[in-house]
Amino acid sequence: MKTMTTDHAVVAGVPVRTGLFVNGAWRPSTGGNDFEVADPSTGEWIASVADAGIEDAEDALSAATQAQEAWGRTSPRARATILHAAFDLVQDRRQEIAAVITAEMGKPLAEALGEVTYGAEFLRWFAEQAAHLHGDYGQAPSGDFRIVTTKIPVGPSLLITPWNFPLAMGTRKIGAALAAGCTVILKPAAQTPLTSALLVEILAEAGVPAGVVNLLPTADAAGQSRALMSDARLRKVSFTGSTGVGSTLLHQAADHVLRSSMELGGNGPFLVLADADVDAAVDGAMLAKFRNGGQSCVAANRFIVHRSVAEAFTKELASRAAALKVGAGTIDGVGVGPLIDARQRDKVHELVTDAIAMGARAVCGGDLVEGSGYFYTPTVLSDVPAAARINHEEIFGPVAPITVIDSDDEAITLANDTPYGLAAFVYTRDVSRAIYVAERLEAGMIGINRGLVSEAAAPFGGIKASGLGREGGNEGIEEYLETKYIALDLTPAAAARNQGD
Ligand code: NAP
Repeated sequence: MKTMTTDHAVVAGVPVRTGLFVNGAWRPSTGGNDFEVADPSTGEWIASVADAGIEDAEDALSAATQAQEAWGRTSPRARATILHAAFDLVQDRRQEIAAVITAEMGKPLAEALGEVTYGAEFLRWFAEQAAHLHGDYGQAPSGDFRIVTTKIPVGPSLLITPWNFPLAMGTRKIGAALAAGCTVILKPAAQTPLTSALLVEILAEAGVPAGVVNLLPTADAAGQSRALMSDARLRKVSFTGSTGVGSTLLHQAADHVLRSSMELGGNGPFLVLADADVDAAVDGAMLAKFRNGGQSCVAANRFIVHRSVAEAFTKELASRAAALKVGAGTIDGVGVGPLIDARQRDKVHELVTDAIAMGARAVCGGDLVEGSGYFYTPTVLSDVPAAARINHEEIFGPVAPITVIDSDDEAITLANDTPYGLAAFVYTRDVSRAIYVAERLEAGMIGINRGLVSEAAAPFGGIKASGLGREGGNEGIEEYLETKYIALDLTPAAAARNQGD
């Protein structure tokens, strides 16, 4: 920690606000502290960001609470117009945003640009949804009265995001919350707060009123969430991150019966069945495994491959993985950037070492890259025993462990042998077989002959230990809405009463 002296940093040539954003104004933290942000491709400092303390959190919640009534009553069309404007501004500044994503998170610039496109889509999608919040009108079964329902915003919401998609994880929550009429406090990951600062600046420029969006980067995530969640003015927590932290937050949420949405970890199985098109499966595997260096909750974690195609699949995947260029995301042609930090890189290596000790074979990779930054070579492991740790823990790195099976049912049993249930992938040429398998896989999202499932217009989320609720799609906005029911008495007696008889 050290004292903040300026209100912005220049990162990859882009000026970025480094303060907190509370009640429509940028400011330092009350305690005057800040924390450091590093570039994972070098490990070096790139900016110092204001470290929000408990007083700042209280200020932000006061601002969000005060702004809630007016924002909730702002017409859906007006809320949509602001979100559309934010979508346009994100597009206009896509190069700058991508450069900052790459600087603080490490992904290759081309992927960062892809994240900007994906992240912006949530602003547009929810802008389109804002004007389509419908209620219902119907007769009670007795015929005595009418049942009227309407949707109302949940209220001030705490949004906690991870570091792996610094823009998209924010827009996926903020877009839905604002469209629904909720005010928000965004707590970005400490390793990637700079992209969120750009996003919040854009939202303010797009016309979001003071107090509706507040930004609270902090080095004390646990203390901040405890303070905010113990305040009854907060009405909702939406979290994306690890299952362990999600479970802690659910315990905290119980005290005030807070509405909770949890997008948690995964352990995605990638099934290549006997009749799969192996080339297509390898194309899908490259995306599902090596995009973002494997640091995605929907990454394929385990490759479950039928014996008849295992050799061809393994050979081709290893040849494509070995050809990926590893390096800083700013370098042309890089396919795999650094992992987020040394701890994550060392964990990946530990899982690989454990699998090899249990009899797996590194067909390619398996090494830490020496030098500065946190790089790991793209790795394909064959003959991985089902019991190896790597099959049971989220890898979050560019490592593809392959286990061979002999039947579809064996593949399904192995795929479901995990507490997680986020994404799964199936490759087969037979539609009936695909549906048979997909219906039996315990996962919230399933890609059939497709290595990428993320899409703003589709419901994103998991089952089992992978979470509660959905983001995006028609479901995402519901996470920020309550249904209010009005019983309307229209019987003759009621009508007479109302006429004063
Ligand atoms: P993490 O350690 O759980 O952190 C996620 C966020 O929670 C960060 O902002 C973090 O702040 C904050 N946090 C940590 N401890 C907290 C606490 N006690 N109270 C409140 N907030 C707390 O996860 P991560 O390592 O950043 O992200 C990787 C994980 O996210 C993986 O498991 C991945 O699968 C999951 N993920 C899930 C989805 C999905 O949609 N299902 C999407 C992306 C990622 P600090 O940064 O300050 O620690």
